[in-house]
Amino acid sequence: MHGPVHAPIRRTKIVATLGPASDRDGVLDELIQAGVDVVRLNFSHGSADDHRRRLQAVREAAERHGRTVAALGDLQGPKIRIARFAEGSVTLAEEQKFILDVSLDRDAGDATQVGCDYKSLAEDVKAGDVLLLDDGRLELVVDRVEPPRVHTTVRVGGKLSNNKGINKQGGGLSAAALTDKDREDLKTAVDIGVDYLAVSFPRSAADMQLARDLLGEAGKHIGLVAKIERAEAVADEQTLDDIIRASEAVMVARGDLGVEIGDAQLIGVQKRIIQRARSLNRAVITATQMMESMIQAPLPTRAEVFDVANAVLDGTDAVMLSAETAAGDYPVETVEAMVRLCLGAERERSIQESKHRIHEDFSRIDETVALSAMYAANHLDGVAAIACMTSTGYTPLIASRIRSGLPIVGLAHSPAAQRRMALYRGVVSLPFDTSGMNPLELNQHAIEVMVKRGLAEIGDHIILTRGDHMNAHGGTNTMKIIKVENV
Ligand code: PGA
Ligand code: MN
Repeated sequence: MHGPVHAPIRRTKIVATLGPASDRDGVLDELIQAGVDVVRLNFSHGSADDHRRRLQAVREAAERHGRTVAALGDLQGPKIRIARFAEGSVTLAEEQKFILDVSLDRDAGDATQVGCDYKSLAEDVKAGDVLLLDDGRLELVVDRVEPPRVHTTVRVGGKLSNNKGINKQGGGLSAAALTDKDREDLKTAVDIGVDYLAVSFPRSAADMQLARDLLGEAGKHIGLVAKIERAEAVADEQTLDDIIRASEAVMVARGDLGVEIGDAQLIGVQKRIIQRARSLNRAVITATQMMESMIQAPLPTRAEVFDVANAVLDGTDAVMLSAETAAGDYPVETVEAMVRLCLGAERERSIQESKHRIHEDFSRIDETVALSAMYAANHLDGVAAIACMTSTGYTPLIASRIRSGLPIVGLAHSPAAQRRMALYRGVVSLPFDTSGMNPLELNQHAIEVMVKRGLAEIGDHIILTRGDHMNAHGGTNTMKIIKVENV
């Protein structure tokens, strides 16, 4: 198998969450220049106007820098939170008693009790359950339940402030995945024009289907991302596979998932989610605390270096930054470091070598062409890139499920298709104007675009996939091997 012919492109994509830090003067431009491929609009914070303003600024900055940047709207979901303390926060000591009381006034919490916005809490827990507060920093063991009160003993204490999240170890809080707020935010997301929409805490494929129903017509243009962050979602293979199939992409949402299933379990689960998503032809994002220390420091820890690298070696499409770019002191340095680490990890030979699904049967013509193109590209000498003329980005998606060291160039006319491909590992998403050209001119035009971008040179081979009729969805039926000659 052959390695890359020219300087390697970065294959792993970077998702950066926007927030006050990226709002600072000039930061967004620098983030995009540094290499952000997808911005995340987090509907847990900020108003509809904040998100609209930010997305507008992203579109303008991407245009200025000639980059394709997709937008991912992320719904808050039924994150269960405690209410507030009269003093803003309290400190809980190990072994002390503490009560969660859903009938308590919203602001009346103190060192012995606090309210909770999730009214069914007392029905969903029983004696012996472990409740984790603030991303698992504090632990409460349930002694007894006397609705509306849940009596607990503090097992791990510490400072607890207003509105911190609650998870139940092992999962099992029954809140529905789409809250009233999510339904409102979904409309906002459609209205401001996101490319992907993430659903938080789905329990099953049905939750994803509900989101799809709510999207209606807009669902044709917006890819759904399932955030895998509940114990139930990974409890058995069937449930996970069904959720993946019901989505265009998944997120290994390690923050909440780690709290529910425990950090030791998380290791294998990350690998399994990535493997299943790739195998089911879906994209996958690895998220949370990847560069956490860079919220306050200009360099990552060695552990973070290896966390990013390991996600790349696992085969993730994208790595995600949360507070690092939304609220940190070094947002641009964080993206620069991530770019460096992704490129470093991608040099590792094993992830460029494909096993090519030799035991699989193909059912679709476009998929068959995409997979054959990757086989040819990885084995023929002197191939610089795979070029896919595509109307929706589907052929590049399938091609990029196969490991390779070669760039997969997605040539699409529609800006929405260009942005969808911004998430896919190893795919360089380029605008491609097809108007008024005959088939031969189109091929030549594709080669020119790639030479201009430095993706191919005279003497290289390019593997081109396309359909007989441009712009027909699923129409890819041709693979052509072209030698780059006179450009
Ligand atoms: P969040 O999701 O940042 O919206 O909580 C990601 C995660 O739980 O890891
Ligand atoms: Mn989460």
